[in-house]
Amino acid sequence: MKRHLQLSIKQLSSCYADGSISPRIVVDHSLDDAVKLKHLNAFIRLSPEKALHQAKESDHRYENKEQLGKLDGVPIAIKDNFCTKDTPTTCASRMLSNFVPPYNATVCERLTKAGAVLIGKTNMDQFAMGSGTVDSIFGPSKNVWSSDLMDKWHIAGGSSGGSATAVAAGICYAAIGSDTGGSTRNPAAYCGVVGLKPTYGLISRHGLIPLVNSMDVPGIFARSVSDCLDVLNAIAGPDDKDSTTIRKPFRKINLKFYEELDLRNVRIGIPMEYHCDGLSSEVLDTWRKVADLLEDNGAHVQQVSLPNTAASIFVYSILNQCEVASNMARYDGIEYGHRPNIESSTEELYANTRAEGFNTVVKTRILTGNYFLLRKNYQKYFEKALRVRRLISEDFKRVFETPIDNENVVDVLLTPTTLTDAPLYSDFVSLSNRVQCAVQDFCTQPANMAGIPAISIPIRLSKRGLPIGLQLMSKTLNEEMLLRVASWIEKQVEFDCLANEQIYAARS
Ligand code: GLN
Repeated sequence: MKRHLQLSIKQLSSCYADGSISPRIVVDHSLDDAVKLKHLNAFIRLSPEKALHQAKESDHRYENKEQLGKLDGVPIAIKDNFCTKDTPTTCASRMLSNFVPPYNATVCERLTKAGAVLIGKTNMDQFAMGSGTVDSIFGPSKNVWSSDLMDKWHIAGGSSGGSATAVAAGICYAAIGSDTGGSTRNPAAYCGVVGLKPTYGLISRHGLIPLVNSMDVPGIFARSVSDCLDVLNAIAGPDDKDSTTIRKPFRKINLKFYEELDLRNVRIGIPMEYHCDGLSSEVLDTWRKVADLLEDNGAHVQQVSLPNTAASIFVYSILNQCEVASNMARYDGIEYGHRPNIESSTEELYANTRAEGFNTVVKTRILTGNYFLLRKNYQKYFEKALRVRRLISEDFKRVFETPIDNENVVDVLLTPTTLTDAPLYSDFVSLSNRVQCAVQDFCTQPANMAGIPAISIPIRLSKRGLPIGLQLMSKTLNEEMLLRVASWIEKQVEFDCLANEQIYAARS
């Protein structure tokens, strides 16, 4: 085991600064480990040349005491739906298998500006449509905690399963994912790492290939809340290239928040609607124990109601498919992406491009989305879904801001992230994508409807030896409170993200 992997980003930076290790060596190890752990299928593509070049530049900055970025020399991985200049960006789909973007996503630009070393592009479900990372043209990602990685392995979760796997396996210190309905929090919970979905518009979507523009956000994976915050501080804030970013300048969050948290001033809500069908007894027990822990330490814990939660999954499905139908129209074989051999007419070019380039999941969502958007259906489905979306948002607003019926407002909601620990791959793929997502996203996607921040933190291992995570949500732009409570819980439960012996063995 390489000892530096146990370090936090801050500790790693101090080691770089005192010369006890260099970015070049750490990045070398990261690239090496990615190759040794290839069987996990975390990466679609590594970028060794670029990464080693960035690492050398970072070495140089440390050696010459030049101005350093906050993430100088820190290896980070990027989900393959973020554009990377001159490096293929495939969305794990045949449609974009030969797409090389001419520009960088803002997230990549900002990470590079902060000195981070981008080691490669991670695996995902095609166009981020999924909850398992089982639908990639490059094959599924495997959960690092599976006791049998050959035959009976568990899913990594998705759609950002490659990013979660890369961090959980200790290949890199953080990774970027995306989150439209849970794609960062779900794999974070299954892989035993921290996964943050920030407030909608806090981090630029420029260069993130869209799934559902009104819900997509870049997400952050790390092995601790404070590492997650270091990355957030480096990439958040307004961007002229994305008109949906929040205009107000981002005030960096102070890292000393944990010491200053007095739980007696914190009000925690337990939404009763999250006690749903399919919730495993182990997850329920974990949820209860953490709620008790908070209460025993002075927090005010109370049950709250978010009555429209159950409608959320249907509304999400309609809105998702409508936006997908519109977003996917850009793939016509003309400007970029897959181009078929037979194209005797324009119609044939379009039809063959799309028939060959998209998988069944994407095609089904386009068809259903267009059906919902037909003039005769538009009001019945799309408009109604938008109205219910507002009700779901108002549920959150009420518990966070405007109490009725003597209810108190709360600062943070505590819920499960997923209903169970990670399913076996063989069980999971026997279900349709629609059913997979309906089950997997139940707890996560209401936050995307409302645009509020949410985080999944690992709590403990299940009887099967797989991680169980819990989710915290807070009101828009209240990342600070969210992270403070998450950090408090993290310190109490002491989950060891790298306690995975199989991975140690494979790496050494
Ligand atoms: N599972 C959901 C979907 O397929 C969410 C995916 C995501 O967050 N990217 O739409």
